[in-house]
Amino acid sequence: MAGYDQNNVFAKILRGEIPCRKVLETEHALAFHDIAPQAPVHVLVIPKGAWLSSADFYARASDAEIAGFHRAVAQAAEQLGVVDKGYRILANHGVDAHQEVPHFHMHIFAGRDLGRMIK
Ligand code: C5P
Repeated sequence: MAGYDQNNVFAKILRGEIPCRKVLETEHALAFHDIAPQAPVHVLVIPKGAWLSSADFYARASDAEIAGFHRAVAQAAEQLGVVDKGYRILANHGVDAHQEVPHFHMHIFAGRDLGRMIK
């Protein structure tokens, strides 16, 4: 994959240039509602650093950023009230997985029976 594009849509959201429906913000992450939800609850959690994808993030981010990011995913799920009934987290990397936005993000899906996989 090419290098990080500072003008990707999630970089613009992080800079406040594009609005989002925020769920929570921490030192390391921002969680917001997906603009085209695929489930009754569909939230994206993004790290604040300029990480292209999951491969980039997990290979090069600091342990504090990685831990902080995953804590934010858990906090978002708690805040959304989906922990008891269940939720799915998913990250797409690269062309085969149809990653559309070149800034690492984790999807949180919930609010219905999600079946065995979201395709
Ligand atoms: O994992 P993938 O890159 O395919 O997912 C990108 C997600 O970002 C999509 O679910 C899309 O609806 C969402 N999106 C958004 N707000 C934007 C642009 C994309 O929530 N402005």
